[in-house]
Amino acid sequence: MELIIKNLSKTYSNGVKALNDISLTIPQGMFGLLGPNGAGKSTLMRTIATLQDADIGSIFLDDINVLEDKQSVRERLGYLPQDFGLYPRINAETMLDHIAQMKGIGNKSERKELVASLLQKVNLFKDRKKGLGTFSGGMRQRFGIAQALVGNPSLIIVDEPTAGLDPSERNRFYNLLSEIGENTIVILSTHIVEDVNTLCSNMAIICQGEVLMHGKPKDGLAMVQGKIFKKAIDKSELDQYRKDFHVISTKLIEGKLSLRIESETEPGNGFEAVPADLEDVYFSFISRKVDPITI
Ligand code: ADP
Repeated sequence: MELIIKNLSKTYSNGVKALNDISLTIPQGMFGLLGPNGAGKSTLMRTIATLQDADIGSIFLDDINVLEDKQSVRERLGYLPQDFGLYPRINAETMLDHIAQMKGIGNKSERKELVASLLQKVNLFKDRKKGLGTFSGGMRQRFGIAQALVGNPSLIIVDEPTAGLDPSERNRFYNLLSEIGENTIVILSTHIVEDVNTLCSNMAIICQGEVLMHGKPKDGLAMVQGKIFKKAIDKSELDQYRKDFHVISTKLIEGKLSLRIESETEPGNGFEAVPADLEDVYFSFISRKVDPITI
């Protein structure tokens, strides 16, 4: 199974070009779509999920024309949107049963079995009688995955799923997603590099509606390996360093600014060569488009 996106563009009525000639091939497994806020990730996710149209371009899920045969896509799709509204007083079990009914599972006992197995899968079975309004962020997201899995989808889209989760909730969510990723296409849209690093076998970096990098995380790493250097400087020196070097990221550590730069040659000046990580790949590509310090 494969999702093939070709030359997709979308300009909103206010003139914002959210997608600018996007082409991507997304194979089975976990695919990370990484980009800063406003990059166009949600627009792309909603377009693939058949919730909005593009101006031009095509999307095929194997031989299904996604932009034309929306019903066929919806039958195969599980979607966890960014803003996932829940009815606070309804309990998890009743809500999931209702969603399963809406997705066409008419047989009551079949539904009961499905709801129980999904709640077990996302580790919410013991909380099934609790109102959704009482759920923590992590529980909400796990419930979101349960509802996305109704109907055994072959394409699952999760939009910014780990924003706002604490580290242990995030870990539990990662484990759940990686289990699902084995037999389906899972597209994970995120601005958190660690999400992609932990989970994804393939990825793309998008910014201002354009694909900047597309491939395996290790291919991205190979592109910047040997070119990343770091140095701790005083905050007041930042402007000068930004003039002299290609600064890709800064982090404040114990009052000092830890600077990472990209350079084809040994920069001298007290800089130390460091092994590149996926965050360097991300900032290296993003910094070619926008100022990474201000995003
Ligand atoms: P991301 O999910 O990466 O944050 P979005 O797809 O939400 O990016 O947004 C891409 C760009 O399109 C942003 O500049 C955003 O402000 C704009 N945008 C998104 N939705 C709309 C809309 N319905 N009308 C007008 N502009 C929009």
